[in-house]
Amino acid sequence: MKIVFLDRDGVINEFPGNGKYVTKVKDFHFIPGSLEAIKTLSDNGYNIFVVSNQAGVGKGVYSEKKLQHITRNMLKEVKAHGGKIIKVYYCTHRSDAGCKCRKPEITSINKAVKSLGKTLKSVKSNFFIGDTKSDILTGYNAGCKTILALSGRAKRSDVNNWGVKPDFITKNLASAVKIVIENPAPDEDLVDSNLTFLEENVLALSSDNGKMIMVKKESLII
Ligand SMILES: [Mg+2]
Ligand SMILES: [Zn+2]
Repeated sequence: MKIVFLDRDGVINEFPGNGKYVTKVKDFHFIPGSLEAIKTLSDNGYNIFVVSNQAGVGKGVYSEKKLQHITRNMLKEVKAHGGKIIKVYYCTHRSDAGCKCRKPEITSINKAVKSLGKTLKSVKSNFFIGDTKSDILTGYNAGCKTILALSGRAKRSDVNNWGVKPDFITKNLASAVKIVIENPAPDEDLVDSNLTFLEENVLALSSDNGKMIMVKKESLII
């Protein structure tokens, strides 16, 4: 199961600015290359989810209905360009509401993997791509590899002050997707079975953290 979680503003579409929100369809501008990048992920069999905080709704800056309109339009464009986003998860609460769905909480990620009939273990070593500290923390909390795209809020130097560092830092979604494709998560079936024959003299064992360990056959006592 290959899964990629994407933040929205600053990753898929242009960052509206600190403290600002995309409140209408005409203010939603795809970052160049992001539609093609989503298509590439889809073509490579990735299940794509969007996880986005939209506290502007909770603050009354724009309505839930407007947000849905913007989302429908985004999904339509993605589809028209050959990509597929399975579902978009929003937290529309204010940051001080104390809800359980605002990133860096991983409620939405749990819901997403559950909708695929999987558990959180399935997202291990998959990717979260975002443009903020909170995105990186969300991915980290879910056990994902994290990619910071510099197309939005955070600057490269901001990372110096973060407790949790992204696994990769890159320009935008287009370059992030290249990283995803080049670093596939270990096959879940291999991770699940404890012992797999790779070639005649080598066995692959999976450890608790899902990393593959190669062991020469003769060094094993069976
Ligand atoms: Mg963002
Ligand atoms: Zn929430």
